[in-house]
Formats: sequence, C-alpha cells, structure tokens
Amino acid sequence: MPILKAAGKTFATQVPVLVIGAGACGTIAALAANERGAETLILERDAKPQGNTSLSGGQIPAGGTKLQRAAGLMDDSPDLLYQDILSKSHGECDHAIARHIANEAPKTVEWLVDRYKLPLSCVLDFQYPGHSRMHMHASPSRYGAELLTVLVAAVEAEGIPIATQAHVTDLYADKDGRIRGVRVTRPDGKTEEIGCGALILACNGFGGSKEMLRKYIPDAVDLFYEGHVGNQGDAVKWGEELGASIRDMGSFQGHGAVATPHGMHLAWATVTEGGIHVNKHGKRFSNENAGYSEQALKVHRQPGNVAWAIWGEAAEEIAKRQHSHAQAIESGAVKKYDTVEAMAKAIGCDAAVLGKSLETSAKDEFGRDFKGKPPLRAPYYLAKIMGALTHTQGGLEINKEARVLKKDGKPFPNLFAGGGAARGLSGPADWGYLSGSGLLMATNTGRLAGEAAAALVKGA
Ligand SMILES: Cc1cc2nc3c(=O)[nH]c(=O)nc-3n(C[C@H](O)[C@H](O)[C@H](O)COP(=O)(O)OP(=O)(O)OC[C@H]3O[C@@H](n4cnc5c(N)ncnc54)[C@H](O)[C@@H]3O)c2cc1C
Repeated sequence: MPILKAAGKTFATQVPVLVIGAGACGTIAALAANERGAETLILERDAKPQGNTSLSGGQIPAGGTKLQRAAGLMDDSPDLLYQDILSKSHGECDHAIARHIANEAPKTVEWLVDRYKLPLSCVLDFQYPGHSRMHMHASPSRYGAELLTVLVAAVEAEGIPIATQAHVTDLYADKDGRIRGVRVTRPDGKTEEIGCGALILACNGFGGSKEMLRKYIPDAVDLFYEGHVGNQGDAVKWGEELGASIRDMGSFQGHGAVATPHGMHLAWATVTEGGIHVNKHGKRFSNENAGYSEQALKVHRQPGNVAWAIWGEAAEEIAKRQHSHAQAIESGAVKKYDTVEAMAKAIGCDAAVLGKSLETSAKDEFGRDFKGKPPLRAPYYLAKIMGALTHTQGGLEINKEARVLKKDGKPFPNLFAGGGAARGLSGPADWGYLSGSGLLMATNTGRLAGEAAAALVKGA
C-alpha cells in the first residue's frame, strides 16, 4: 500500500471529492458531498458494494430523534448517549469526538430517513447492555443489507458514480501530506490513476488481515472472523506511511454468540432477556450481559473454544426478528428442548450441574443482575456458540470534521476518514464497545467527512 510521490505527476482524470469504499460511511459521505455541490466519485473494490455494513444488524444508536418521540420515547437525548459511550469505554475514548458524534447522531438519522428514505424505526422490544435508553434505530429485519441497498440506490439516483471492481492500491501525496490522487488496480491487473481535490477513506479497518491482527490484536487472531474479507487495513497502512496519528489499535468489536459451525450471529436478546452461556461442563463462566463484544474472548477461552447459549421463549420471540438470528434458526443451529436432561445430553454435561446453572438469581457471583427478567423455564432454546471478531475499532485519529490528524495533532491538508477506518469510540480494548458504535461512527463521520470535503474543494 505505498504512498507514491506526487511531484510532477499529472492525472488524466480529476475528481473534486474521491471516496474509497462504498459501505455506509462511503455512500453517506458521497451523498453529503454531493448535496453541497461537490462532484464526487466512489471507488469500491468489490463487484457489488457490501462491506461490513451489509453484514451488520443494521442498528444505529441516536438519542433524542423525532422517531423516538413519535414512538413515545420522550426522555432520550444526545447527552445520555454520550454518557453511555463514556461509561462503556471507561472514559478512554476521545471525549470531544464522542460528544460531537452523540450531538450529530439525531440529525444524521433524521436526514437519512427524511431525505433518502432509509427504512429505520426504533427498537422497542429490548435494550442493549450499556444503553441507558432504547437508543437503537434499525431496519425492518435488523439487517444492514437493507440499509446499504437503499444508500446505494440513493447514490445512483443522485447521479453519483460508483466505480466497482476498483481496488485502490496506492495514494499519490506531496511532502506535506496533500493527497493528489490514487492508483486503482482492476481485476485483470490493469491500473488507472485518478486525481482528487480531497480524499475520504471509508475503507474500514483491518479485521480481514491476519498479519495486522497478529501485530495489533494478537488475542483476536484465532477468533472466527465474521466481518467482510475486504477489510484489509488499507487506511491504516496509508496513514502509517503518511505519518498520521493512529490510536487504539488493540480495540475491536467481538461477538460472544456466533453459532458454530454455522457462523451465524444469535441476536443478543438471547442474553438480555435472561439467557445464559455455559461451557461443556454445564457451568456458567461470566456475566454474559456485560456486553457482547467482551463476551467473545470469554467464550473463546472455554474448553474447546466453545460454549452453549441457553434462552427462553420470551427471548426467542424477540430474537427471531433479527435477520442473522432467523438465519441461524433456518440453518438448524437453534434447538428446542423440553427438559434439562435432554439439553444436558445435547451438551454432553451433567444434568444436575446444568440445572443449577439455570437457577439465575437477582445478583450472582459474576455480578450479573437478572432482576425483572423471566426465569429460565422450558421450553429451552440452545445453540453451540463461539466467540467472533466482528470488526476492529482502532484507526486514524480524526477531528470533528473527520479530517485525519498528523502525529502533531494538525490535520492533513485534504485527507478525511470515517467509519471503521477511523479511531472508534471504544477506548483501547474489546470491553469498550457500546452496541451500535460501528454504524454510529460510519453514518455520522460519513456525513461530516462529506460535508467538510465538499466545503474544502468549493473553497468555502
Ligand atoms: C456481523 C456484523 C454485525 C454488525 N452489527 C452492527 C450493528 O447492528 N450496529 C452497528 O453499529 N454496527 C454493527 N456492525 C459493525 C458495522 O457493520 C461497521 O462498523 C460499519 O458497517 C462500518 O462501515 P464502513 O462504511 O466503515 O465499512 P464497510 O461497510 O466495511 O465498507 C468499507 C468498504 O470499503 C471497501 N474497500 C476496502 N478497501 C478498499 C480499497 N483499497 N479500495 C477500494 N475499496 C475498498 C470494502 O470492499 C467495503 O465495501 C456489525 C458488523 C458485523 C460484521
């Protein structure tokens, strides 16, 4: 991923705003730049835009939207979301960015819904760990592909070109870090060069690169990777060469309940609504409700790197509304049992030990409080699970305009980053990820980067 010298270089094709990546961040950045009158081009490596966005649960947090008010949620606010981000990350994220993103989130959600008809509605049937209010706004089947389809259609309707099968391999930069253009490699090996006035890196993190995981997050190397393989850390590699400030590289979002061997993500309502995880001995080993991200390594550290998720009827009713969970059911990953003995047999553990684990109480040895949740009673739902890596959270440090910062804290002249390419809001490790933080960053930094890049090239 070299940075090539731009001195003396001319480009036959020149675009004011160039965006790398057609996930949520890239498509939203392009829409925002286009609205501000800047000609924009998106370069996407895949034949069809997908990215992590289309694999995701499509749930975006925001506090104080008009959708929430229409749904009767009157007391949410940007401040509450900000406090939740801070509390989950133990205060170890960039406070100013977290505050700004939380403030901008209602505007972004309402803009996307009103202007581009993003099919979002409030999630009212369960509350994620760490959310002090029901912050989530989701697509009908709680599936990111439903969002990306609408975003790509909106980009096309606006006449913004998306060049697919366009893998950006190199950037051309001046000595001061001004980006002059990019080199694109096509599947047949042919290359093209495109000049730009501003560049937005919306090409996500490095979850798909074992080499970078070994370097930055060795604990996550052996986790099942459920993100998009195209996330090869290109933004970080370019940033490293350019001398950008790169932060929180040990941070990631895990998921502690991915059905194995199916590779499908159970809805977290299987936990929030009173469900538990046990190991092959039928014993609980954690406060499952601390967060799905940190639960990934806890599951992975059990014998055989697996565990079993157990939940009840009320949880299943909610869980099956999520696309990935419905897929897990369809693929046969979810089994139903009427007795503890039958379930113990399926796990291969002692029924008496399992029976004891099912007796959840108001406050337990792991610090979990089951108060207000239904006790676990037959019929039981069971799935064998593994811990997964969903996406990385470390990346390029940005300011409030999503401009990439140098090591001295000053912004590069015309380089922007957002979504998974930028430093997230989770602090340094897996435990700091607040549910929905991925799309929160992708949607908001996408809009902010697009607006600021357009202003830059228009000389505003
Ligand atoms: C299973 C799963 C469930 C999730 N659920 C949620 C959820 O419910 N809520 C939430 O907030 N987050 C969720 N996330 C995280 C969320 O999906 C991501 O944080 C978000 O989609 C990132 O968006 P992005 O636009 O930055 O990246 P992406 O959507 O991954 O888009 C990046 C694009 O860049 C392209 N690209 C990469 N390198 C290059 C290159 N060199 N040249 C050209 N193109 C390139 C890729 O092909 C890709 O299309 C989930 C993730 C997964 C995997």
